[in-house]
Amino acid sequence: MSVFEHSEFDEHEHVAFHQDKASGLKAIIAVHNSNLGNALGGCRMWPYLSDEEAVRDVLRLSKGMTYKAAMAGLKQGGGKAVIFGNPRTEKTPEKMRAMGKFIDSLSGQYISAEDSGLTVDDLKLMGQQTDFVSGIQAKYHINSEPADGNPAPSTAYGVYVGLKATVKYAMKSDLKDVKVAIQGLGHVGMRLAKHLHSQGAKLYVTDIHSENIEKAVSEFSAIAVAPNNIYDLDVDVFAPCAMGAILTEENVDRLKVKVIAGAANNQLAKESVGQLLAGKGIAYAPDYVINAGGIIDIYHQSIASSDRELREHIEKISNTLLEIYHRAQSQGIATNIIANEIAEERFGK
Ligand code: NAD
Repeated sequence: MSVFEHSEFDEHEHVAFHQDKASGLKAIIAVHNSNLGNALGGCRMWPYLSDEEAVRDVLRLSKGMTYKAAMAGLKQGGGKAVIFGNPRTEKTPEKMRAMGKFIDSLSGQYISAEDSGLTVDDLKLMGQQTDFVSGIQAKYHINSEPADGNPAPSTAYGVYVGLKATVKYAMKSDLKDVKVAIQGLGHVGMRLAKHLHSQGAKLYVTDIHSENIEKAVSEFSAIAVAPNNIYDLDVDVFAPCAMGAILTEENVDRLKVKVIAGAANNQLAKESVGQLLAGKGIAYAPDYVINAGGIIDIYHQSIASSDRELREHIEKISNTLLEIYHRAQSQGIATNIIANEIAEERFGK
């Protein structure tokens, strides 16, 4: 398998492979671009079936972080790490410490945060071996929730301000009586529901776990919807907050909304679906722009900041989205493409 020739390689600056015999750790760190600063990105543990699968994942994700950091106005580059193995059955403290040493060997070129399969406790174990982990001691928070290192409150707040700005742009309206369909009521979706309910929005919710739906119905007067019916509703906004690749040609065909604004990563099944949305007159908030509250939070925890500065930084997501919408409209180009263009201008591709 070639790395330099890999379809996802895209001028990566550094890709490091590591195996630690004693603990059994097998991992890769990829640094895509550091023009704006050292690379920040999560570390993921996943039972990859092949080296190719892991390489593809780490390259794709680290590139995504460069774009995300640039659009969030962070003085950071993009990077990511992956650990081979099932996080439920193959994760050990020894592997986490060995990962910390691996991260340390890059002398700060890559700063790790949490991603799927890892917890704050795992990062703390890594942090015994390196200073280059973030998201383990949260000093600042955006509301009364305890600052415990979980970035979901900040992600949800960012999605809320971004959704509000998009509704104002596309519908010339505030959120009162605006109908929002939320797909997924997890860490982010449930908090988003709370914000929207407080502004008078009417919620339609779905999840694969009925207790989450019941909570939203009782606390936010939401209307319960079966997972398969979420695309067919006669509502104003669709907020995907579960899994990626849900914006397929087929699902977009079913949507009657004016706005798509949600937390899920990689919402577009293909980049070309962005143009389809533009053609239908749907204002699509590019996922990595609107869901950047979490990475902004992690960044602020690693610098001298304050609750107010963190909050104001997250609120800038709405300005970034408006810049994207205006440019997309004047050039007749889809918002996902414009977002990539602005990011590339910012990090100097
Ligand atoms: P989560 O796992 O806490 O919540 C996801 C929810 O979606 C769960 O309640 C799950 O039951 C539900 N779900 C799964 N499949 C579904 C389906 N087919 N239909 C309806 N609901 C379904 O995750 P989260 O932390 O809330 O993140 C949500 C999304 O936002 C993910 O795509 C994540 O990658 C992205 N994201 C999260 C953060 C963060 O700070 N947590 C930051 C950026 C992006």
